[in-house]
Amino acid sequence: MATLSLREEATDLLQRLIRLDTVNPPGNETLAAELLREYLAENNVEAELYAKVPERANLVARIPGRGDGPRLLLLSHTDTVLADAAEWQLDPWSGELREGEIWGRGALDMKGQVAANAVVIASLAREGFEPAGDLIFAATADEEVGDDFGLSWLCREHPDAIRAKYCVNEGAGDRIDFGGRIFYLCSTAEKMSSPFYLRVHGRSGHASMPGIADNALVKAASLIVRLAQFRPEPRLEPEVAAFLQLLVGREVEADEALEVARSVHPLAAELVEPLLGLTLSPTIITASQKRNVIPALCELICDCRLLPGQAQDEAESVLRGVLGRDGYDLEWIEGQGGTRSALETPLWDAIESFVAAEEPAAKVAPVCLAGFTDSHWVREAFGTVAYGFFPMRTMDPEIAARLIHSADERIAVEDLELGVRFLRQVAQQIGG
Ligand SMILES: [Zn+2]
Repeated sequence: MATLSLREEATDLLQRLIRLDTVNPPGNETLAAELLREYLAENNVEAELYAKVPERANLVARIPGRGDGPRLLLLSHTDTVLADAAEWQLDPWSGELREGEIWGRGALDMKGQVAANAVVIASLAREGFEPAGDLIFAATADEEVGDDFGLSWLCREHPDAIRAKYCVNEGAGDRIDFGGRIFYLCSTAEKMSSPFYLRVHGRSGHASMPGIADNALVKAASLIVRLAQFRPEPRLEPEVAAFLQLLVGREVEADEALEVARSVHPLAAELVEPLLGLTLSPTIITASQKRNVIPALCELICDCRLLPGQAQDEAESVLRGVLGRDGYDLEWIEGQGGTRSALETPLWDAIESFVAAEEPAAKVAPVCLAGFTDSHWVREAFGTVAYGFFPMRTMDPEIAARLIHSADERIAVEDLELGVRFLRQVAQQIGG
């Protein structure tokens, strides 16, 4: 191993991880956990496999702290979404290195960061690094589906294995260029996924005589239009306020936020818009199962995202204002995520000083994700300060965003190496 550079070591490990099929479902993340355990053992890093069922193991490794300094958790997941090989230019499980990029399902989301985390803990162990508090690396199962085989289960059943004060996870790290001003995004908060059923009742009848029946599908139509046209009263969350302040150098009010973002860059407006309030996207509808039967019931599933900390009760009263009081039933399906971490922390400082050293003109900007990651589990369980940051400088973030969960996913080796450098510096700064 000593003959490989960290860049080559991370490349090789990522290629081997991509070649393992850990598409979830079914997952089979134990394949990845065993590969990582073997790699870490070669570097004298002890790792433990924790599995609810044998084929879906989570791996946790650590360099024990020399005292009770703050613990840092390098978090990642080893499962991926599926890939349709017919849509790809290369085999999605080839891990092929072509023109400075490593191809394959999971390269960006997120076996690249898994490999970088592993190389960071292995290389620091080889150098005899003794952090003040434990440096922990977790490569967990089941992030993409969330059926309780991964981090949720680990937090509940083995909390001592992964309890940490600080955590670096996926979520952001994109380098964005607003007309020559460079920002690296760091996600510090996430919206809550809070979908609901909307059920509209009518009376069935023969489709040839619409006058006699009461068509639930037709009644639902006007409600769907109201959901689609909904625009929330803008609210300025701390992450968005800090982001806009960085952009324009002054405090921005909620009702001008979108305008201000638009005046900076269209991409800034795209980022800010879903973060000003709850969003609604009707996505699934079912009504009659027979062409000639008028439906007595129409059931709609609406994707809904709440602001961090926004309660479903509050959202429900907003929804009733939009839809009217009656003529439908509303039922929440779940509420997941919706957490945030503080903005001014030693972990934030470590990220800032890394970016300042790599690219002095660039700034780090906090963002709230419109979606959510596994970060919320450790925030909820331990009050961990969890940020999503894996810096990406070579690949255009708009291209990367199109490749995630899509065909031809790949990562630039330069970015993989940048990630290794970043994580090493954070580990040394937090553990120093
Ligand atoms: Zn992911």
